[in-house]
Amino acid sequence: MTKDPRISVAIPLYNEEAVVPELLQRTLTVLDGMPGGPHQVVLVDDGSSDCTCILLEEAAEKNPRLTVIALSRNFGHQTALAAALDYVSGEVTILMDGDLQDPPEAIPLFVETYKQGYDVVYAQRVKRKESWWLRACYYLFYRLLAALSTLQLPLDAGDFGLMSRRVIDEIRKMPEHHRYIRGMRTWVGFRQIGIPIERALRHAGRTKYSPLRLLKLASDGIFAFSIVPLRAAAILGAAATGLSVLYAIYSLYVKFWLHSPQGFTALILAITFLSGVNLFFLGIIGEYVGRVYEEAKGRPHYVVRKVTMQSQHSDGVTSQCLDANKMLSERHEHD
Ligand code: UDP
Ligand code: MG
Repeated sequence: MTKDPRISVAIPLYNEEAVVPELLQRTLTVLDGMPGGPHQVVLVDDGSSDCTCILLEEAAEKNPRLTVIALSRNFGHQTALAAALDYVSGEVTILMDGDLQDPPEAIPLFVETYKQGYDVVYAQRVKRKESWWLRACYYLFYRLLAALSTLQLPLDAGDFGLMSRRVIDEIRKMPEHHRYIRGMRTWVGFRQIGIPIERALRHAGRTKYSPLRLLKLASDGIFAFSIVPLRAAAILGAAATGLSVLYAIYSLYVKFWLHSPQGFTALILAITFLSGVNLFFLGIIGEYVGRVYEEAKGRPHYVVRKVTMQSQHSDGVTSQCLDANKMLSERHEHD
């Protein structure tokens, strides 16, 4: 058994004003009951247009355990999570959604399992409460991705879970912009385990993932963790060539032995089918090329507008808005 670790909780929020008070209250109550503190909660405001950021900053001014990172605009859930990981300082970090679908009450269970020698403890979602078609999509997606990837990606596991300091450090070293953190977590390795956790309904407000955004997250998972779609072009191309050789033999037989004109319909079908397949795979190759291009630009992943946390240098009563970039570069110098 290792000693009780200092815990950081990383939470991305986008227009969650209706959830913030309950979220802070429940999370802090759980952390207060846990040994090993002082624990930390890093809240990233992902460019909210409602009062989320104001509520968070007010809370951080009163509570030294809270750090609030306000991004300059909406960068998306996975990027907001990545921003949070740059500011966590605990020996273990819990990744959690801000809508209370991930119950903070599960944190002690994660930590207990960590103490048994696991570097990653993730929640395996049982009894999802979303609509049946969304559940079906999630079910199929996780299985498709597992089949396409050479990594052993766990089924039905989201980002909710615990990671040790060394896992966080490895993830932070990964430079990719299209981040699929649950996959990157698996990639890092060490001892990992899933524990079944019921996924609650969101406490208030509406989902920020439109079907299009979900599709984007799913494609980030597939394109970042599999090159099978590229290979599929080669396999299908080989199969089409084989079929066309067979058809050529048949056509020659019909032409020279039976002397009957044939093949107009087959010609049209072959042309339309194969040009469809060609364009489809051109699109897939384009998707990978586009991702290479975006990585090649090497832009920063996010821009911070403001960091609110209690100064460690002052008497701890006033909150300070630090120049975030300066703070980060200082942190890197210390690393
Ligand atoms: N979120 C975010 N930026 C976004 C979209 C979502 O920070 O662009 C946050 C959101 O506030 C929530 C978490 O990510 O805390 C998960 O989002 P949501 O609950 O909308 O997704 P769902 O659970 O419906 O998949
Ligand atoms: Mg949610």
